[in-house]
Amino acid sequence: MRPIAENLQEIKGRIAQASARVGRNPTEIQMIAVTKYVGVERMREALSAGLTHFGESRAKDAKAKMEELSDPAITWHFIGHLQTNKVKEVLPSFAFIHSLDRSSLAVGLAKEAERLGIIPNCFIQVNVSGEESKFGIGPDKLLSFARQVRDIGNIRVVGLMTMAPNTREEGIIRPVFRRLRELQQELLDLGLERISPHFLSMGMSNDYEIAVEEGATHLRIGTALVGR
Ligand SMILES: *Cc1c(COP(=O)(O)O)cnc(C)c1O
Repeated sequence: MRPIAENLQEIKGRIAQASARVGRNPTEIQMIAVTKYVGVERMREALSAGLTHFGESRAKDAKAKMEELSDPAITWHFIGHLQTNKVKEVLPSFAFIHSLDRSSLAVGLAKEAERLGIIPNCFIQVNVSGEESKFGIGPDKLLSFARQVRDIGNIRVVGLMTMAPNTREEGIIRPVFRRLRELQQELLDLGLERISPHFLSMGMSNDYEIAVEEGATHLRIGTALVGR
């Protein structure tokens, strides 16, 4: 496998170029190394290369890795589908949850958060592309869902998350990211308490440059960065 430092250097270069094309400052973009496919050895290598934000999609696997690495410098992002009965496994160890997509989960998170005396940072996952295989709230239901989350309380919505269809076709990917940004603006305009979606979690190995051009603040990159 190619050294992570080399992958990182190449990806950083591409992010810088994509940022320059649209007049963005690349330092405002957070790279999350998606480590769900790799073990702790490779994660140690990622740490040595300077990566400190890790994304995992299974609570159990992540817990084991957290215990082995136990490095306070790491910020953990939960990026997978979250079952309500797994909430206790992700709070408080994950600093960010990228997959808030239904009110039953919001209720579960809020309850556990209250018990712990914390307010978790969540991204609302939006199924912009409408693919049946994807999780996420429908774009037409986002604003009413956000009001529900506000009413449930004890949750801070820091951003929106989406996944583009698995394709190389820019003409399919770009409108998905652009729509998420429009939805972000609609939600910001509502000005709901604790609903401050200033972040956009979008862009993976195949499409992160398009995501940067469309305003992503958090890139979730696995294969191209740490391999699989
Ligand atoms: C696996 C995964 C990624 C990373 O995918 P790559 O194509 O390997 O970069 C990003 N986001 C989510 C939600 C994932 O499940």
